[in-house]
Amino acid sequence: MTKGKMIYEGKAKQLFETEDRNKVLVYFKDDATALNGAKMAQIHDKGIVNNKITSMLFKLLEKEGIPTHFIDRISDREQLCRKVDIFPLEVIVRNVVAGHMAERVGLPEGTEIPNTIFEISYKKDELGDPLINDHYAVALGAATYEELKEIYAMAGRINKILIDFFATLGLRLVDFKLEFGKDEEGNILLADEISQDTCRLWDLETGKKMDKDRFRRDLGDLEETYREILKRVESKLK
Ligand code: UDP
Repeated sequence: MTKGKMIYEGKAKQLFETEDRNKVLVYFKDDATALNGAKMAQIHDKGIVNNKITSMLFKLLEKEGIPTHFIDRISDREQLCRKVDIFPLEVIVRNVVAGHMAERVGLPEGTEIPNTIFEISYKKDELGDPLINDHYAVALGAATYEELKEIYAMAGRINKILIDFFATLGLRLVDFKLEFGKDEEGNILLADEISQDTCRLWDLETGKKMDKDRFRRDLGDLEETYREILKRVESKLK
């Protein structure tokens, strides 16, 4: 697969054309940002870790019947994916109170909730990705009500699969972010990445935060924790 022109560069990844107009090459960088870009750093080998973890998790989800953009991991930092138009939405799924939800509603992190919470925010860096709802999304032309219904249904199925999978690794899936896109035929596919950068994962035994909060909150052990997550995922998936 030849790497063509760069189509897009985001905070953590670059996207390149390939000779097939329906496929793109995704390159995972070591750059990390938090607090809407206010905090920036390089995390050694993060691109390699996140590419591997995302590839294994997307393969697992495909096997469980979730359509994704993922085709193949072709090198340490690169994967081949189906080209999609990304919905300008971040879909957040929460199983336990943490992060912004804790701040928003004044509950301590770790508070149990009886139901799964689905949130959407509008992907607009200059506005800090504001929290919106379905009616906003439709008004903004970001998605139709039917598309949103399908996206939430997929997010719910993904949540069930991932809660069970991470539990086998001794990890509690607290919350996570998903992005979806549409291919040429209009199929909705899971896209972007799933890793410790986009999920909150707490060790089931010790409660240790095993995710990007170590970077956001300067908790230390960053690279070691990222390697540990990779090791646990690799112990179950290839
Ligand atoms: N998240 C993400 N990218 C974002 C915002 C959130 O991957 O731009 C993930 C984050 O890692 C966490 C979940 O979505 O697992 C919920 O994040 P929250 O809304 O609490 O915001 P945060 O505190 O992470 O900024």
